[in-house]
Amino acid sequence: MSFSPSNAVRAARDETPASAHSMSEIASAIKVGEPGSFAALGTAFLTRLPAAPVPDPYFIALSNEMAETLGFDPDVVTGAEKNEFAAYFAGNPTRDWPAGSLPYAAVYSGHQFGVWAGQLGDGRALTLGEVEHDGARLEVQLKGAGRTPYSRMGDGRAVLRSSIREFLCSEAMHHLGIPTTRALAVIGSDLPVRRETIETAAIVTRVSPSFVRFGHFEHFYSNDRIDELRALADHVIDRSYPHCREADDPYLALLDEAVRTTADLMARWQGVGFCHGVMNTDNMSILGLTIDYGPFGFMDAFNAHHICNHSDTQGRYSYSRQPQVGYWNLFCLAQALVPLFGANLPEEGRAERVVEAAQKVLERYKDRFGPALVATMRAKLGLETEREGDDKLANGLFEIMHANRTDFTLTFRNLSKLAKADSSQDAPVRDLFLDRAAFDAWAAQYRERLAHEPRDDAARAAAMNRVNPKYVLRNHLAEQAIRRASEKDFSEVARLLDVLRRPYDEQPENEAYAGLPPDWASGLEVSCSS
Ligand code: AMP
Ligand code: MG
Repeated sequence: MSFSPSNAVRAARDETPASAHSMSEIASAIKVGEPGSFAALGTAFLTRLPAAPVPDPYFIALSNEMAETLGFDPDVVTGAEKNEFAAYFAGNPTRDWPAGSLPYAAVYSGHQFGVWAGQLGDGRALTLGEVEHDGARLEVQLKGAGRTPYSRMGDGRAVLRSSIREFLCSEAMHHLGIPTTRALAVIGSDLPVRRETIETAAIVTRVSPSFVRFGHFEHFYSNDRIDELRALADHVIDRSYPHCREADDPYLALLDEAVRTTADLMARWQGVGFCHGVMNTDNMSILGLTIDYGPFGFMDAFNAHHICNHSDTQGRYSYSRQPQVGYWNLFCLAQALVPLFGANLPEEGRAERVVEAAQKVLERYKDRFGPALVATMRAKLGLETEREGDDKLANGLFEIMHANRTDFTLTFRNLSKLAKADSSQDAPVRDLFLDRAAFDAWAAQYRERLAHEPRDDAARAAAMNRVNPKYVLRNHLAEQAIRRASEKDFSEVARLLDVLRRPYDEQPENEAYAGLPPDWASGLEVSCSS
């Protein structure tokens, strides 16, 4: 695996020009129930219903890149139709939902914190439909748009703070080159929402080629609805993994894709110090995308066992356990797909052969995650060549980072300044460590290793700066933007989004966004409550 940020943002000039220049054009570009769409799977998979309107929706933020990717002219938002834009993406139709255009909530189940939770589903998300633009089909979904048949005890809403966090992090992850669902906009309303205190509502427009989760498969498996299970797998294969059709067993090939993309995603998360916080099987994308941003966090001070979710009292989803949980979740997925495997095998001995084959595919997770992580770490350390012991060198750094609680992002970013020949340039990274002797001992090993590298310091530093971000969505940065937004000042959300669009660039005017968190930030807590 190479750890180059696979930014899918194409230069504007290469893009198909925006085709929707007004709200009515945007609304008609979002189609629901087209052949081959998730909605076309039918009523066993979803319930069609209107969104619950919110009072006086107001515009908070837009991702211009996402608008362009969808073929929406971003100027609609700043133009005369700003209020219509806010109303539409709050789920308030400006007229009745035309026949056949009702959005839908999908049903799924899942394992939460290692325990079978039964039926869940889109309790507060409604998919408006999908947009076809520039050769891609993307689903457009409102999160926080009101109660659905799957809301259980919930109110169907999302609060302002969690919506801003999801919006910013979706876009930040994309610009880091990490697979993720995307976000188009955040719309707010003063509708009160009860959490630990009374907050206000917001709606995030999420965008993804698919919102299918491992839990979708578990749902139909657990209900013994094998025809639906197959239809779902066929849908995912047709839409996202068409090459699986050529395999001897397309459904095993689908599992293999989930194994591959999940292993890759876990290596990416570990590489930037990202903790998801709620890796339940209903929060795992079949496409290996980061999905459902809740109590996530980018680590500031490195702690290998960091738990970002205050509600995760056992630390099931701590940083160091994420890769293992990815595997555990894939095991649940494999279990759910078993009835589809081996359709061409003779009845005699099929069950055993199917289980064996599924296990073999699952085992590939380890073969993929390990090398993916080592490749990620090599790139982070600026190693162009591969040598025995590179993993130990990386682990050695993590050990002293953990012992010294050094800042994850700054340690790697500043490491690029270190010189190959001597310790004269060590200070920016060395000074992050309280135990300087421990750093010096590690740096000596690192320099020994760098001696085998063909690149000079400048070339190595440039390469390292392309994989070690300077700017990540630190909790305190999100918090500052949220505090301002709750006073109706949305400028900090826009500014932060702009900084996070170029996470690998030096941005001298935004140096403050790259610094250590202030003292007040150490008390910040995020929980499942969103
Ligand atoms: P999560 O772990 O936050 O992704 O959510 C787990 C399940 O709870 C999903 O089925 C969500 O749709 C549902 N859920 C979470 N919050 C709410 C809410 N406020 N109202 C309705 N359903 C919710
Ligand atoms: Mg979820």
